[in-house]
Amino acid sequence: MRAEGYRIVPTYDDADLVVVNTCGFIDAAVEESLETIGEALAENGRVIVTGCLGAKEQVIRNAHPQVLAVTGPDSLQQVMDAVHSHLPPHHDPYSDLVPPGGIKLTPRHYAYIKIAEGCNQRCTFCIIPSMRGDLMSRPAGDVLKEAEKLVGAGVRELLIVAQDTAAYGVDLKYRTGFWQGRPVKTRVTELARQLGSLGAWVRLHYVYPYPHVDELVELMAEGVILPYLDVPLQHASPSILKAMRRPGNIENTLQRIEQWRATCPDLTLRSTFIVGFPGETDEDFEQLLAFIEEARLDRVGAFAYSPVAGAAANALPNPVSEELKEERLERFMELQTAISADKLQDKVGRTLTVLVDEVGEDEAYGRGSADAPEIDGTVIIEKSAGLEAGQLVRVTITAAGEHDLFGELAGG
Ligand code: SF4
Repeated sequence: MRAEGYRIVPTYDDADLVVVNTCGFIDAAVEESLETIGEALAENGRVIVTGCLGAKEQVIRNAHPQVLAVTGPDSLQQVMDAVHSHLPPHHDPYSDLVPPGGIKLTPRHYAYIKIAEGCNQRCTFCIIPSMRGDLMSRPAGDVLKEAEKLVGAGVRELLIVAQDTAAYGVDLKYRTGFWQGRPVKTRVTELARQLGSLGAWVRLHYVYPYPHVDELVELMAEGVILPYLDVPLQHASPSILKAMRRPGNIENTLQRIEQWRATCPDLTLRSTFIVGFPGETDEDFEQLLAFIEEARLDRVGAFAYSPVAGAAANALPNPVSEELKEERLERFMELQTAISADKLQDKVGRTLTVLVDEVGEDEAYGRGSADAPEIDGTVIIEKSAGLEAGQLVRVTITAAGEHDLFGELAGG
């Protein structure tokens, strides 16, 4: 839009048109998307809807018949067509120039790169494959060119995302692509190695626990990519994992975690879990707690199971009551919060490399290799005079809270 002379503004009042990007992953996300569309209609009135929930146009139209257009996921051209018909562009050759890194909605020093769309797995609680289809990987050369451009424009951290990042290239049978005249296989380990050569931090998200994740951990140990493994495990009881259609051998998972830590001692492990899945007994839940206690993961997100229209899990017997779900979620989080806080304490006294995100009056806020933006903690740097966002600094940790670390510039 910027390339065509449109201006992106931060408030409804200043906008001639609002584009709402939606999520339809779980019912709570659908509700939030519909609320956001309602808010945009009330505050501005001229609204185009896009994103996952757009695949279910009727749901949107039933709730908000006055939206101008509804487009689905990955529909750049359709969104642009809708924008053109409701707000034709004024062409101005001077304002039409796009800066070299393109336009991002994230701060200048970090950027998300999507390497694939869709998923070949069929987890019973998830409707992503039905909304987004099977895995479709971008050619390795394309991804690397985009990454190179971003790093050239000042990006210091590349966040690699896809619904199933570690499966990257399976659909293309790991075809060989080209970048800078060199052959590069469309495979996550090779892509990660090449991305790591660009000189920015590389953080991989949503890594399904395939066997070749071990190779990614080796790259982390070598310092090629950040030692940060975001591996959603969802549960620890074999029968629940089976009902979820996820890898069920949890003993094996514990051994792998031990192995990963032996390979890469600095590894940060993040995972997500669902409690209260249909059929989850007290024993299943206790098994999950025992796993959490033993695995001592660094960062954990947990959700009470929420049925999604169209998901296979809805047909499973013995749903867990809302009350019990909430009670289990609370017990789970209490245990994990203590583990995470304990693990943060271990960092006190260490000196970490920190990427500065924001500089306030008295302190600056940054993140270390263990902290992804938005979802993890922050490193709060005291006596931060002279620092700038996007700078990499060494920080000695002096204290730890439940989620965040506090420190001072090393040698400062
Ligand atoms: S791997 Fe992730 S995206 Fe794919 S079906 Fe399972 S939960 Fe959904």
